[in-house]
Amino acid sequence: MPFICENVECRAVLARGQVRSSHEDNGWCFYCPDCKARNELKDISVPGGPVELIQPERSDLPHKVIATARPLEDGRYAAQLRVQRALGVKGTYAVEERWEQLGVFLDAQEAIAHAKSFATDLLKQKA
Ligand SMILES: [Zn+2]
Repeated sequence: MPFICENVECRAVLARGQVRSSHEDNGWCFYCPDCKARNELKDISVPGGPVELIQPERSDLPHKVIATARPLEDGRYAAQLRVQRALGVKGTYAVEERWEQLGVFLDAQEAIAHAKSFATDLLKQKA
């Protein structure tokens, strides 16, 4: 099975021969050749046997949250949000959800703050 980079923006699919695993103080890992992100590995070998590395499935992968304020014609701002959710199960693509208008605000900062708190609640719910 190939390794998949855990960086949401990268998610490169890497043949095992493409990555060099290294043993560091806090365990095995490899660095993605594309984005240099550190990816954790787990040694599942039997005691005394050769090292056998797998990529642990994790539910705490980093998510990417993009909160923006879109200026409206009347001078107000619409809160916009994009959430790229890293998959707990291995897959090539992160799932992206988006909201064009979560609410309308007088202030751009307020609109962004609203979109961010919406994202926080959303990620908490499904965690
Ligand atoms: Zn990568």
